Amino acid sequence: MKIAVAAESDKGEPRVAGTPETVKKFIALGAEVAVEPGAGIRSGIPDSEYTAAGASVSADAIPGADVVLKVRRPAAAELSRYRKGALVIAVMDPYGNESALKALAGAGVTAIAMELLPRITRAQSMDVLSSQANLAGYRAVIDAAAEYGRALPMMMTAAGTVPAAKAFIMGVGVAGLQAIATARRLGAVVTATDVRPAVKEQVQSLGAKFIAVEDEEFKQAETAGGYAKEMSKEYQAKQAALVADHIKKQDIVITTALIPGRPAPRLVTRDMVASMRPGSVIVDLAVERGGNVEGARAGEVVEIDGVKIVGHLNVPGRLAASSSALYAKNLLALLEILIDKKEKKLAIDWNDEIVKATVLTRDGAVVHPNFQPKGAA
Ligand code: NAD
Repeated sequence: MKIAVAAESDKGEPRVAGTPETVKKFIALGAEVAVEPGAGIRSGIPDSEYTAAGASVSADAIPGADVVLKVRRPAAAELSRYRKGALVIAVMDPYGNESALKALAGAGVTAIAMELLPRITRAQSMDVLSSQANLAGYRAVIDAAAEYGRALPMMMTAAGTVPAAKAFIMGVGVAGLQAIATARRLGAVVTATDVRPAVKEQVQSLGAKFIAVEDEEFKQAETAGGYAKEMSKEYQAKQAALVADHIKKQDIVITTALIPGRPAPRLVTRDMVASMRPGSVIVDLAVERGGNVEGARAGEVVEIDGVKIVGHLNVPGRLAASSSALYAKNLLALLEILIDKKEKKLAIDWNDEIVKATVLTRDGAVVHPNFQPKGAA
């Protein structure tokens, strides 16, 4: 069983899919591990650390591999280097990328999309959305603090008192909860909002104040899967009025709101931005999915009416060493259920619900039900 850790060809991707820690574990499971040169360098892992962990470092790691571990989907041009039948595991970004899926199928690889893992208890240790969102939530507050021209905690000094910053977290999933915890640790006074009622207690248990329109629709806003629904126009108007009143008193706003399969909800309008004090900072973590904030631009920090709006791309990549460490562990946890530990080889149960939910292509075809060509049965 040969496992390759690929170097990312995408310049915007500093993370790596394997670490010396997971390399050692794979070797203990009976695998040979080969790492492409420089794969870990932007996550602070030199080739020598992989070698010390027992891997070989080779430019030919991929052609011989039974399993290729990656952060992002391999580009079509790279696929000629992959062995037919190889298992390729990455964050595949499959929605709206039909031609890329066809290329994966055409190359004959079995592609597994980590972001399609079901959020069941057994898959928690493999959940890349959680591991990466958690770090993104933390980093959003650090980025806000860096852009903010004042201190976050209250400081009483001989020269006078610095007031605590007021931070407002909009959308309290995995990223939002970590943003609340981080802003609290830095001494900010924290409020938070969401449309899912289950969040209220979580917000309060982190020492923040919950602010939301808690009407009948709010009570029904969580889907069976634990996600938010798209809210009605009426609810959105009530929410906007509440937010408009609250946001003008805030120094830092972090938005993380997402709805599965839909563009991110617009929560902060241009007028709300203008109502904030100059020097305030907004971080839009939803910017890659259309943005929660009017005026936010993907990959940029813009200033509107003296308010900075931060729209960094790939926020987990801004903490590449930490996010790679957790991502690599997510991959290890998944591979552990795909390997027969006695025989020391791949033994995939194609009927396992985790496998069924994540396999995109196999034996030359796109097999995932969500990505069948239109009109197919
Ligand atoms: P997400 O990234 O899809 O969305 C982020 C947050 O935005 C959510 O809390 C959502 O309710 C909120 N939101 C959506 N529309 C909004 C609006 N109009 N106004 C304000 N907020 C809005 O969410 P996530 O971080 O993936 O978490 C979703 C759920 O999944 C949570 O309940 C989380 O606890 C749960 N979860 C379960 C597992 C597991 O069981 N393995 C793992 C991770 C997360």
